[in-house]
Amino acid sequence: MEKYEFKAESKRLLDLMINSIYTNKEIFLRELISNASDAIDKMYYRALTDKDIVFNKDDYYIKVLLDKENRTLTVKDTGIGMTKEELEANLGTIANSDSYAFKQEHELEDGYDIIGQFGVGFYSAFMVADTVTVISKAYNSDQAYKWESSGADGFTITPAEREETGTSVILKLKEASEDENYDEFLDQYRIRSLIKKYSDFIRYPIKMDITSRQLKEGSKDEYEDITKEEVINSMVPIWRKNKNELTEKDYHNFYSEKHFGFDRPLKYSHISVDGAIRFNAILYIPREAPFDFYTKDYEKGLELYSSGVLIMNKCGDLLPDYFSFVKGVVDSEDLSLNISREILQHDRQLKIIAKRIESKIKDELTSLLENERDKYEDFFKAFGQQLKYGIYDNFGMNKDTLKDLIIFYSSKEKKMITLKEYVENMAEDQEYIYYASGESIERIDKLPQVSFVKDKGYDVLYFTDYIDEFAIKMLHSYDDKEFQSVSSSDLDLGEDDKAKDEDSLELFKVMKDYLKDKVKDVRGTSKLKEHAVYLASEGELSIEMEKVLNQMPEGGDIKADKILEININHKVFENLKNAYKDDKDKLKLFTNLLYNQALLIEGLPLEDPVEFTNNIWKLL
Ligand code: ADP
Ligand code: MG
Repeated sequence: MEKYEFKAESKRLLDLMINSIYTNKEIFLRELISNASDAIDKMYYRALTDKDIVFNKDDYYIKVLLDKENRTLTVKDTGIGMTKEELEANLGTIANSDSYAFKQEHELEDGYDIIGQFGVGFYSAFMVADTVTVISKAYNSDQAYKWESSGADGFTITPAEREETGTSVILKLKEASEDENYDEFLDQYRIRSLIKKYSDFIRYPIKMDITSRQLKEGSKDEYEDITKEEVINSMVPIWRKNKNELTEKDYHNFYSEKHFGFDRPLKYSHISVDGAIRFNAILYIPREAPFDFYTKDYEKGLELYSSGVLIMNKCGDLLPDYFSFVKGVVDSEDLSLNISREILQHDRQLKIIAKRIESKIKDELTSLLENERDKYEDFFKAFGQQLKYGIYDNFGMNKDTLKDLIIFYSSKEKKMITLKEYVENMAEDQEYIYYASGESIERIDKLPQVSFVKDKGYDVLYFTDYIDEFAIKMLHSYDDKEFQSVSSSDLDLGEDDKAKDEDSLELFKVMKDYLKDKVKDVRGTSKLKEHAVYLASEGELSIEMEKVLNQMPEGGDIKADKILEININHKVFENLKNAYKDDKDKLKLFTNLLYNQALLIEGLPLEDPVEFTNNIWKLL
């Protein structure tokens, strides 16, 4: 028996490995299976140049064996195996990846990529095992060897018995402690589900003996345990398959299998990118927003694989927030398997992939918008808020990416239109893009200030989402046309004689005094038709924005600068003038009533509903 010590730095590394690199113990199985797969791949490559090796795919497999009595879990492969020297070099030095060297040496075929490249994965076995035993026979050797280690102390290598070429890695699982229980790794169902989760797309069969209780043949109530060898993994991932071989149904099935959603996706897209960076991806645009989509609990991200092995369930860095609704998988051979979340965040490759994915999603949405407007409207109902929020978010950094993807209801078209469509159909003398905000299309339609813009023949966009006006303020303009609210006191349609005579101005001043700080000013207007009053706002903050901000937990007491506009062509105006002359109490009552009515029209709460109704009774 030869006894070896790990290289000095390896000792510390091993400790680090076991305790901190992996946060998740269960991934040891993924690492061992990936190594087994690499070992078979290496046989495959040897066979390409060595005529003595016949690579018959059926002879190559990985088998996972569980032994409850002895508390062992074994990962066995029929791969290339290791010589004594290789056992020493490859398993005796942490961060030494022979697989990586192999990859450098060989020109690898598309889709046949070696997974290993860091030389640390193997040691993850020590997270769950006290002792790790490796029995291996290299493909061109007659003698098998046993490598054994119980951790940082070192390892031994002794001659051993083994019939066929290949490697078995045997883990003697740790005993259960107070806060950890390793028995789960002896449970066939648990192991089966781990293989499914992480290694489903390893391209060689992963076999397991599965025991199940079945009715004895010919008997009605007697049961027996039947053990059958089963292949656990599905081997070829759908994203590696040729698009022409796949039907819409395949993509939809994959969507449900992966539990991306209970709906049928609105659109899917299968991409394979070749070049400086290679990856395959399948992306889905869901039809319905998940129930938690607009809450803090929702976690965005795509499933991330490296050469068919799962690295991360939800890689958030692959999606910008405004496309957080997208579901799917990404698989790249250019990403390392054993890498921490923190490192991945700064990974340059990942950033490039994310950029490509983002522009792909944008293209898909644009084509939906242009070619399947009905579907796009469905999409927008579910996720439009997220896009609009994306315009507003980050100080408008992404507004150019998103401005052509948002749609609003048009008063003229009576349907949803894009900003581009609005601008293309603007009247010749029209300077601004007009919009009106409110609770619903029906309510906005009845606003007095909307009708006078419509009467001019101009289209008005209706904003019914709380985020709309904030997003538009961030956009500021589209195609050099600025946005203007129909409720803005700046609204000037050219034919408003504002009643500037002394008497009227005096009257408005008195009314303003009655209302104190509630309004910034009282003015006369001739824009209105049947309505006697309405509330306009001055400056950046609109009345709709005031409503939104005041609903927020830390919104406080934000007030828009309101202008009470009185219709000078309305009979009410005559009555105001008369009251001003004869009866100041009456004027005060009228002022109060008109102001409250204006609040009601805007959908703002009355400050004192009891007083308001009392005043009406007084009048009646
Ligand atoms: P990596 O897979 O990143 O190279 P590992 O720590 O997982 O790092 O493995 C270290 C090395 O040990 C591998 O590069 C490979 O040469 C060798 N090795 C591990 N497992 C096996 C196996 N089942 N068959 C043959 N060689 C193996
Ligand atoms: Mg490995």
